[in-house]
Amino acid sequence: MRKGRATPARSKLPLALGSAASNVIALRIRSMPAAYKLQVLQDRIEIASSANDGLIQGVQTLRQLLANTRRVWTMPQIVIEDSPRLAWRGLMLDCSRTFLSLSYLKRTIDRMSFYKLNVLQLHLTDDQGWRIEIKAHPKLTSVGSRFASRFAGERGGYYSQDEIRDLVRYAAERGVTIVPEIEMPGHALAALAAYPELSCTGGPFEIFPFFSGPNIVEDVFCLGNESTFHLLEDVLEEVSALFPGRYIHLGGDECPKTRWKTCPKCQARVRTEGLRDESDLQGYLIGRMGRFLDARHKQVIGWDEVAEGGAAPGATVMIWRGLDAVPALAKAGHDVVLSPTTNCYLDYRQSDLPQEQGEGSKPVPLDKVYSFDPLPNGIGDDVRIHVLGAQAAMWTHYARTDDAVDRQIYPRLVALAEAFWTPRELRHWPEFQQRLEVHCRRLANMGVSLGINFRTDPGVWAAPARSEP
Ligand SMILES: [Zn+2]
Repeated sequence: MRKGRATPARSKLPLALGSAASNVIALRIRSMPAAYKLQVLQDRIEIASSANDGLIQGVQTLRQLLANTRRVWTMPQIVIEDSPRLAWRGLMLDCSRTFLSLSYLKRTIDRMSFYKLNVLQLHLTDDQGWRIEIKAHPKLTSVGSRFASRFAGERGGYYSQDEIRDLVRYAAERGVTIVPEIEMPGHALAALAAYPELSCTGGPFEIFPFFSGPNIVEDVFCLGNESTFHLLEDVLEEVSALFPGRYIHLGGDECPKTRWKTCPKCQARVRTEGLRDESDLQGYLIGRMGRFLDARHKQVIGWDEVAEGGAAPGATVMIWRGLDAVPALAKAGHDVVLSPTTNCYLDYRQSDLPQEQGEGSKPVPLDKVYSFDPLPNGIGDDVRIHVLGAQAAMWTHYARTDDAVDRQIYPRLVALAEAFWTPRELRHWPEFQQRLEVHCRRLANMGVSLGINFRTDPGVWAAPARSEP
């Protein structure tokens, strides 16, 4: 029995380690086709799996089955054999635009594990802040994690390498792998504020909160400057050592080419590398970083822009703009992770209610999230094998606190977790709505701040306000 450490029991049920044959929760590693098998019998509970992560999933199912009726804990006698539909079931948190506390990240990992999500992508760098300590280049955090002095009230900060190691260990104990994202070549203003000589113009630059500047900053890494590559390689060297997982996310999205067009160094790079024009520079960067990471047994993943123009061969692609691109990418040999704005962007508004916060011209309501089908009927096996999984995204342009992030994420993340795990034919919206009430009570007990319409108007659960059918 290993119960207790991996999943702190908020039930406060006393569970001691032992080897008795009855009145126990027995965890066993043994070979089996399912991810885990849970048996609740008259005198014992057994959870078996061929892997540790399966045991964690079985324990989480057990926790979900526990019911407290008049102070008595009960559970139905049941046998469950279960496997996930998708191997990659992720959540991306943007801790650059809004620096999220370490304790918030740990609470999020607890909740992810409870809902069997297994990948937490941390968006660690962007225009609004560099959030991870890099020993070789200390100004990335001493300068790059702080807003300009005229924004003194805004929350800056970064995670030390010791904190990252602690977080990685905490996540692994709960069956969650952390994928770090280091943005390049765009969304790099925080790095350029620290090292302006790595830009095309030389700067100087200052870091501003999202609400006071443009969404897309035209100053990006200068790719004609060899020092840019040295810094990025130093960063990826340290990041590779900190995160034991296979994937390193290099961003690659929304990079304007304006500065590269007029930069003599960038234009010289285009000529010496035989590129068509400056739009191929991004592909050159991702390809070069991909080879660097390949030698360290890491796999590059990037937003779908990395597949444009001179696409990096072998890069895994995280698709945010539209799923139409999936078949062609798969046929070109790219693995993909699906995170379309239409179903997976939880920073978008949940409804058309006037008090609703969030981005997007169209809301992403709960039923639309729930109906997401990452593997629709009709896609061929040749495409299917390249779909690693799917991921929720939470950008923090507007959500300025841990609680505000919670209100965007929940309860929609519960619906997405089910869409990632359960085949479409086993999902049923009216039945999910009934279960959601229990989920929301549980989430509230876990200390989650629920979305505004779920706090103020339970009737909205049945009929989310929205602008389209
Ligand atoms: Zn340049």
